[in-house]
Amino acid sequence: NQDEEKLTEYMDELEFLAYTAGATVDKRFTQKLSQPDSRTFVGSGKALEIKEYVKENEIGTVIFDDELSPSQLKNLERELEVKILDRTNLILDIFAQRAQTSYARTQVELAQYQYLLPRLTRMWTHLERQKGGIGMRGPGETEIETDRRIIRDRITLLKDKLKTIDKQMATQRNNRGKMVRVSLVGYTNVGKSTLMNALSKSEVFAENKLFATLDTTVRKVVIGNLPFLLTDTVGFIRKLPTQLVESFKSTLDEVREADLLIHVVDISHESFEDHIASVNQILQEIDAHQKPIIMVFNKIDAFAYEKKDEDDLTPSSRKNISLDEWKKTWMAKSKYPTVFISALTKENFPEMKKMIYDEVHRIHISRFPYND
Ligand code: GDP
Repeated sequence: NQDEEKLTEYMDELEFLAYTAGATVDKRFTQKLSQPDSRTFVGSGKALEIKEYVKENEIGTVIFDDELSPSQLKNLERELEVKILDRTNLILDIFAQRAQTSYARTQVELAQYQYLLPRLTRMWTHLERQKGGIGMRGPGETEIETDRRIIRDRITLLKDKLKTIDKQMATQRNNRGKMVRVSLVGYTNVGKSTLMNALSKSEVFAENKLFATLDTTVRKVVIGNLPFLLTDTVGFIRKLPTQLVESFKSTLDEVREADLLIHVVDISHESFEDHIASVNQILQEIDAHQKPIIMVFNKIDAFAYEKKDEDDLTPSSRKNISLDEWKKTWMAKSKYPTVFISALTKENFPEMKKMIYDEVHRIHISRFPYND
């Protein structure tokens, strides 16, 4: 039963990703296998079931919630006779749509080519008529059909270009001087941009879609006469494509070089514990997990679930919980300073600000011991 709940949550997230990319989802298929079929990911019976459904309902694309191997992708496309997207490709597509600056575009393009290279043999030649659409944005179709060598050259070029920009950005970071640097991290859509806006009184793009933020935004924030730099970074997600982790080096460097991390959690989301784990895993991967961290549990104004009884504080039963009650939950007992807020209504902002101030101040005086 718990497995089933997990599965539903994963599918909800995948549907949200598809929606963010501009697709509407018609039907979900799930299957329990001890391990994915090496040839077609799902078993042959399930594949047939999907194929029939796709035919009958004129479905344009089938999306899988995992990264498929190049051969699985090829086999599925041949057998289902429909465009196949895997989770990685879908996320890359959203990133391509959302990349605003030439830096972000270069990063996404690199990640797309790296994803494409081992999958080049499959092509979409038999699906010519379905040009465009999800999974086809970014590198143009004609480019997709050029040979491996050209793509390898392109990858080299993009890597060089990024290296140059990385250097410039490193210089920029150095030029910011010794001001304390704080990075907002968290799963996608938890409210990082909203919090950034609330703290810095600036207008950062916030939207109820995934990955509204691809580029790093840096703002100077002052709390109690103490200035520091606050950055908003790309949202993390379960199974973030490794190609992206690699190519978003500079964006993640911002996190890596921060003095303090503010880990924002959407406590109204049924999978928030999983989200915390995903974020911690990525922090570990980029070697940023030992930094000072403040846990900010956001969206306390928004509980979608009914409370069954007084002691029941499981994720599916959070409603009308007072601040005092929140402070008695396991979340409040973490080894990090922890605070419960709403970035939207600004509930409990003074406590959060005090917490940030204390941490920043501590770092500040360790850096300027004679100034204080
Ligand atoms: P980001 O992807 O982490 O930067 O998240 P955003 O700041 O873009 O916010 C994602 C969505 O959550 C937006 O629709 C926000 O309006 C909403 N949101 C952010 N903070 C809160 C909050 O405290 N309460 C509620 N109810 N919604 C919030």
